[in-house]
Amino acid sequence: MRPMTFLKTLCTGLGLSALGFAQSVAFTFDDGPRLAATPRLSPAERNGALLAALAKHHVKAALFVTLNNGADQPEGLAFARAWGEAGHALGNHTVTHLDLNEKAVTLKQYEDEVLACDRVIRPLPGFKPWFRFTFLREGDTPEKRDGMKAFLKAHNLFNAYVSLDTSDWRLDAALVSVLAKQPDADLKPFRAAYLAHLRQRAEAYRDLSRRLFGRDIPQVLLLHHNLINALFLEDAIWQFKDLGWTFTTPEAAYQDFVYSLVPQRPSPGQSLLISAARSLGYRPENWERLFDDGDADILGLERQGVLPASYE
Ligand SMILES: [Zn+2]
Repeated sequence: MRPMTFLKTLCTGLGLSALGFAQSVAFTFDDGPRLAATPRLSPAERNGALLAALAKHHVKAALFVTLNNGADQPEGLAFARAWGEAGHALGNHTVTHLDLNEKAVTLKQYEDEVLACDRVIRPLPGFKPWFRFTFLREGDTPEKRDGMKAFLKAHNLFNAYVSLDTSDWRLDAALVSVLAKQPDADLKPFRAAYLAHLRQRAEAYRDLSRRLFGRDIPQVLLLHHNLINALFLEDAIWQFKDLGWTFTTPEAAYQDFVYSLVPQRPSPGQSLLISAARSLGYRPENWERLFDDGDADILGLERQGVLPASYE
């Protein structure tokens, strides 16, 4: 074993995060299982590819189920069950992915969707009483926000926060739009943009955690049950390994007290760390790059001619 590798192994074993060698990440996937058609891979191939990449690297993740994306049908329910049977956790992400920050969406409507999703996923293996807010938005009024806090408490549901937020969904949409027109398009620029995006966010949120809490916290990564992850998840796992990060489970990560914080000023659509920073009145230098929806990565693809210049 090389000296640095030995030192890293030793420090990780001793939990010495202050030396920066014990940064860990837990993978979570939202909006799944998804039965909608995409280019290149069938729904079963996408679900299988995600599970295979996780299994190969012994990563135990969580899938947050949006019922109407597929688990309301036998094939999709079997996909969700496969996650639980493989040792992953299953959490709740509503029925129709409605937005609690929309004026027209009532608290009652939102609660009913949480309960309807709960009825389907609760009997499945791997079920956890975890709720992930759709769009990471907790409500546009104090009544909705306080109402949901009381509702989750009454039903023993945990707010399954995200700390390491990504815009994988935006790169996925760009990839799908290109493949729809050009099925044999080169995937390499998308893979590169996806990996660069994840790396930038991982390093920026690690830095923010150190600034806020003085240490590395176990990061909870948000990805989606989509084509780009089905194609490149294993590359993402390798990249985290190359950065020296280790893998933890969402269950273990959520034991950290950071995930029991209730920020005074939740930032709609953002990581818990952004909400915490905002509540503390703290604004780091790289603020915009923490949640700019991957604008720099999309722009990079436009400049390479991979995406049309008018792509948004
Ligand atoms: Zn979602």
